[in-house]
Amino acid sequence: MNWRDKLSRFMYGRYGQDQFSRFLLLVGLVILVISMFVRIPGLSLLVLLLLGYVYFRMLSRNVTARYAENQKYLELKARFLGLFGKNGHRAQRQGDNMIFRCPKCSQKIRIPCGKGMVEITCPKCRTKFRKRT
Ligand SMILES: [Zn+2]
Repeated sequence: MNWRDKLSRFMYGRYGQDQFSRFLLLVGLVILVISMFVRIPGLSLLVLLLLGYVYFRMLSRNVTARYAENQKYLELKARFLGLFGKNGHRAQRQGDNMIFRCPKCSQKIRIPCGKGMVEITCPKCRTKFRKRT
């Protein structure tokens, strides 16, 4: 058995990587770069903790909990980006339709105007989100 098989067997049933993990890794990287220029005690420990947490999430067997964390992260991210008005969450009008973007995969979704609050299911990744039309 080669290492690839071993790895996939090891990873079987485990959560693996998601957007939240990638975000945490990015944060860790940024802190690492900062710590190269500014000496702040405990910063490397923070990076270590962060990496430890990322690996804990990747190797976790509690997929449901990790998935919920990731959803929460995506929601917060969408809200955060919304503050700057470039989130793609804001609808574009196109004739009698509104164009929304899926918060997860950015797929464009066309919804007729004037339907009030609707629950939209992304045709690509099946993410559900609510929008006012
Ligand atoms: Zn989607």
